[in-house]
Amino acid sequence: MPESPDLEVIKEYLERVLPGQVIEASEVLRPLVVRSLLPEYTVSTLEGDTLSEVGRRGKFLLLGLESGRTIVINPMLAGRLQYCSPDTRRLARTILILRLSGGMDLRYVDPKSMGKVYLTPDENLVPRFGGQGPDALDPGFTLEVFRERLRTRRGEIKGLLINQAVLAGIGNAYADEILFEARLYPFRKRPSLSPDEVERLHRCIRSVLSQAIVVLRERMGDDIDVKIRDFLQVHGHGGSPCPRCGTPISEIRARNRLSNFCRACQPGKMIEG
Ligand SMILES: [Zn+2]
Repeated sequence: MPESPDLEVIKEYLERVLPGQVIEASEVLRPLVVRSLLPEYTVSTLEGDTLSEVGRRGKFLLLGLESGRTIVINPMLAGRLQYCSPDTRRLARTILILRLSGGMDLRYVDPKSMGKVYLTPDENLVPRFGGQGPDALDPGFTLEVFRERLRTRRGEIKGLLINQAVLAGIGNAYADEILFEARLYPFRKRPSLSPDEVERLHRCIRSVLSQAIVVLRERMGDDIDVKIRDFLQVHGHGGSPCPRCGTPISEIRARNRLSNFCRACQPGKMIEG
C-alpha cells in the first residue's frame, strides 16, 4: 500500500513534470473506480483543462487543474500511477488514461480496483479526506500536536499510528518500522506509554519517514509505479535476524493485519480485548 513516503516522492516527481500540461484526451477503462463529485464533472470534461499544482495529504494525491477542480487519487491497497509514453503496453487493470500535451500519458493502474480517483470542486468533499488528522510529514505536526491527538485515545499504539483520523500518511509497513526504531511493542496500549516514550515515538515518526523519502527519491527515479520496500528493517522480514540484535523477527497476524517486530528490542505482551 502506498504510504506517505512513497506518495511524497511520487508527488515531487509529478510536480516536476505535470504543471502546465494540457489534458488532450481521456479514457476511462473501469468506470466504477473513477468518481465525479458533481454530475457535470464527467471525465471527458477534463479534456482541454490544464494541470496546475500537485499536492499530497496523508495517503491522497491531489492534481490541481486550472479550472479550479482537483483530481484526488486515493490508491488504497494497490493503486499506482504511471507516467509513460503512449506506446507503453497497457498494464492489466489500467483504470484511467490521460493523454497530455507534452506527449506522455498519465495512467492510473489498480490491480485490486480498491482505490478511487475523484474529480471534485473541493477535496473536502472526498470521502475520508476531510476527517484526516494532521499529516505525519507536515512541519506543523509537532510533539505537542501528537500528544493532543493521543490524549483521548486508549487503543494499541500501532492501531493509532495507522488510524488516519489520528494522524495521516502512515500504513502497516511504516508503522512497523517506526515502532522498531522507537523500540516499542506494537500492541502496547496508549495509556501505558510514558511521556518520554511518546516523545521518542514522535521523533521516530519523523526520522523513519524522512529517511525513507531519501532512499525512495534516489531509487525510484522516473519509475513512479514501482514499490520499493526491500530496505525496510523489519516489515516483511519475519523470521530474518533483527538488524539490531539478531533475534528472529516476529510475524504475527492480529487485528486483521500482519505485524513484524523484534521481541527482544520491543518487549511487551498482548492484552486481549
Ligand atoms: Zn532486536
